[in-house]
Amino acid sequence: MAREPIVEQDLCISCGLCIDNLPSVFRFDDNNKAECYDPDGASEEEIQDEAIDICPVSCISWK
Ligand code: SF4
Repeated sequence: MAREPIVEQDLCISCGLCIDNLPSVFRFDDNNKAECYDPDGASEEEIQDEAIDICPVSCISWK
């Protein structure tokens, strides 16, 4: 199984960048914070480049 990205939700500012870039991996939860719902929705490289590296508050990391 691929590595799993996790969002430190206390830090998430709900900008939506990770969700816009990878809607097959991330979504907003009921509190309007990003969450990973399918770690297999994109390659590890895509998750690194299009979510982890672009999050403005660096709150996405590998589990
Ligand atoms: S890019 Fe970061 S701050 Fe923006 S919604 Fe995703 S996890 Fe939250």
